Amino acid sequence: MRVLFAVNEATPIYKLGGLGDVGGSLPIALNLLDIDIRIVLPLHPEIALSQINATLLESFSCIYNRVRLNISVYQGFLTGSRVPIYYLAEPRYLTSPSGPQDNYADKYAVFSLAIAHWLHETKMSWQPQLIHLNDWHTALVPVIMRHLYSVRHIRFLITIHNLAYQGITEMPVARRLNLPQHVCQIMSWDESDGDTNILLEGILHSDIITTVSPTYAQEILTSRFGEQLHEILNQKSAHIVGIVNGLDQQFFNPQTDVFIARKYDSQNAAILKTENKIDLQKFLNLPVNPSSPLISYIGRLDPRQKGIDIIDNLLQSQALISEDSQFVFLGTGDPDWERKLHNYDSNPHIRIITRFDESLAHRLYASSDLLFIPSNFEPCGLIQMIAMRYGSLPVAHAVGGLKDTIRHNQTGFLYEPNTSTSASECLTQAKNMINNPEVRQRLIQNAMAVDSSWLLSAKQYATLYQNLVG
Ligand code: ADP
Repeated sequence: MRVLFAVNEATPIYKLGGLGDVGGSLPIALNLLDIDIRIVLPLHPEIALSQINATLLESFSCIYNRVRLNISVYQGFLTGSRVPIYYLAEPRYLTSPSGPQDNYADKYAVFSLAIAHWLHETKMSWQPQLIHLNDWHTALVPVIMRHLYSVRHIRFLITIHNLAYQGITEMPVARRLNLPQHVCQIMSWDESDGDTNILLEGILHSDIITTVSPTYAQEILTSRFGEQLHEILNQKSAHIVGIVNGLDQQFFNPQTDVFIARKYDSQNAAILKTENKIDLQKFLNLPVNPSSPLISYIGRLDPRQKGIDIIDNLLQSQALISEDSQFVFLGTGDPDWERKLHNYDSNPHIRIITRFDESLAHRLYASSDLLFIPSNFEPCGLIQMIAMRYGSLPVAHAVGGLKDTIRHNQTGFLYEPNTSTSASECLTQAKNMINNPEVRQRLIQNAMAVDSSWLLSAKQYATLYQNLVG
């Protein structure tokens, strides 16, 4: 089975958030199931060619917005694996910066066009039977392949990692791609109100839609979580499947993690996590006190999704630092919120760190008692899975993938509704429970015993691939 995995991020090469973790680990798990899977990624300006050990495979050109673009394909391997990775380089659009935001429509229209053109128009000998698309960045590939190149034999599976990002643009996508209105009714219908929804194009032109947890697969069918697409998604509901994400168990492993002071397993976690906490308290200039509960937040600073206002409320009311607790925030994103949270900098029990710092993230996972996750919606969420693997107990809103992966009072704590009051009550309950050393030990062991490997999920993807390709 030959599958092309088209994605915008793949750790350790390029990561903005959870998509990077998935892009860098799911293909490896699928490769272990004997699927000939290959990744295609834009050569983002942040990726240094000298560091990825890739060689030039071929060059070609294609027309976008009536201008001829020169595309180069470099080939390497995903770090530490046998999974080939193709980087598409193009100086005008693909080397422009990107972020987790919902823009850069030209960049991703060109990325999708380049993938389609490369597979169909060049002498590329390897041809996929199926293309696994990820999020709006790659969602135009089926439209282009089917309508510009009349390709019928390739199947398409699109995974929605976050329905909140749809790539809605006023830019005339179809015209720039040279897709005349009459060839694609869906696209001209979509464009008739003045903008194009790129993700919607992928949803409507793919054979199957997956999303990253069973609960989120149900939630997106409702007006509360459907991001204006719930009616269309309801029509496609027979083709929507929820598969929970897994983790790269080697990268996130407290027994071997190169970033942490004391490595540990579930037997000695209760003691060695405390030593890591002391190390972190010194590093962050927090009061050194092993018995202070350490609560962390790690994640993108996206106020709409991540419930940052609840963190702010609980910092204001001191609920996050009550009973001698300490709170560390590691996240970057919305600049107004970054500024606002830095108002707490003068509090000796609070650290606000607004940068992307993989090493610090691992140290926080290894030293925290609790990880606070007040997300308003969470398609899957990886931080709770990473936290549990490191014996840090998630305290999370019972929504989406958080609900599917955390067992209340056993591997973490869930609360509902997502209000400051219920979050605060849940935090108090969690702190009371871990105050008892035996209960703490049991909870840490339960959390660390959770199987978050990719194997089960990869098998589900493999079955879907098989059903599609036949
Ligand atoms: P999302 O996909 O919404 O960004 P996830 O919980 O699925 O959220 O994944 C977030 C990933 O990004 C985790 O691996 C987390 O450790 C990492 N991460 C997020 N923000 C930071 C940061 N500021 N520094 C280091 N790692 C971060």
